[in-house]
Amino acid sequence: MEKAIITHGHSDHAIAGSKKYLCHTLTKPILQLRLGEGVYETTEWNKAHFINGVKVSLHPAGHIIGSSQVRLEYKGEVWVFSGDYKTEDDGISGAYEPVKCNTFITESTFGLPIYKWKPQQQIYADIQNWVLQNQVEEKTSVLIAYSLGKAQRVLDALKNITDTVFAHGAIHNMQQVVEKLGYNFVNVQRITPETTKQELKNAIVIAPPSADGTTWMKKFNPYRLGVCSGWMQVRGNMRRRNADKGFVLSDHCDWDGLVSSVKATGAEKVFVTHGFQAVFSKYLNENGIEAEEVKTQYGIEEEENTSEQKIELL
Ligand SMILES: [Zn+2]
Ligand SMILES: [Zn+2]
Repeated sequence: MEKAIITHGHSDHAIAGSKKYLCHTLTKPILQLRLGEGVYETTEWNKAHFINGVKVSLHPAGHIIGSSQVRLEYKGEVWVFSGDYKTEDDGISGAYEPVKCNTFITESTFGLPIYKWKPQQQIYADIQNWVLQNQVEEKTSVLIAYSLGKAQRVLDALKNITDTVFAHGAIHNMQQVVEKLGYNFVNVQRITPETTKQELKNAIVIAPPSADGTTWMKKFNPYRLGVCSGWMQVRGNMRRRNADKGFVLSDHCDWDGLVSSVKATGAEKVFVTHGFQAVFSKYLNENGIEAEEVKTQYGIEEEENTSEQKIELL
């Protein structure tokens, strides 16, 4: 491709092979980490660019650091592509802003009515209390969180109860980039073969989903495993991951968030992608908003993505 407009740095939304990339300023270092050097043109939210006569601008999506919706305007007609987005302001990603448009292309990762998130403050308190209880019982707390997005929120949640968190290499690499962008939560210490069992006793560890179930985890015994993901809303998923505790913390909209966002755009036509597109588009059609599903190459959720697996486990 000649030029790709990138909504955010998750690996299923940022693929190598284009000559040029247009992205938010905060997304550039993340793309450099994931895609290597390239031609990255950066922009800020609400700034107009013209590409082949089409007015292009990015707008906050509230999903992860730098995440943006893409607004396209041509001859008075406006299309908005949501990328991944979340309606709750997490205090890190920039607050999501609905953008008025004629046509809205929305994701639907959690586009089933069963998905309903608790307020972030409540989940943060649950994480803190769980860690403190593990410490009383002299167990290491291992939290599974995707390296970009979820890990930063978990660190934010932990800053009230600790100064230092130990991290898997994949989390540590991403955190180095994020810290350079000005996001500091707590001291994040990389786990290396030299890290002693004594240091890890009672400690807090953050690891990516790919580390779950590997021999690398043995180092933390005795430990408790907490998985942070929207998928934890479904009990079966918690069992499958062998989690002691599931924290339903998502970087995507829940069902109500999707419905209210679509309405707020005022769009007369909606394309639903990336998730439960059949269910969500059916609901919209039944409620007077013309909708259609589109299949894309995005993964169902970044957590399943293979790029994390490629990062060598220490
Ligand atoms: Zn994403
Ligand atoms: Zn995605």
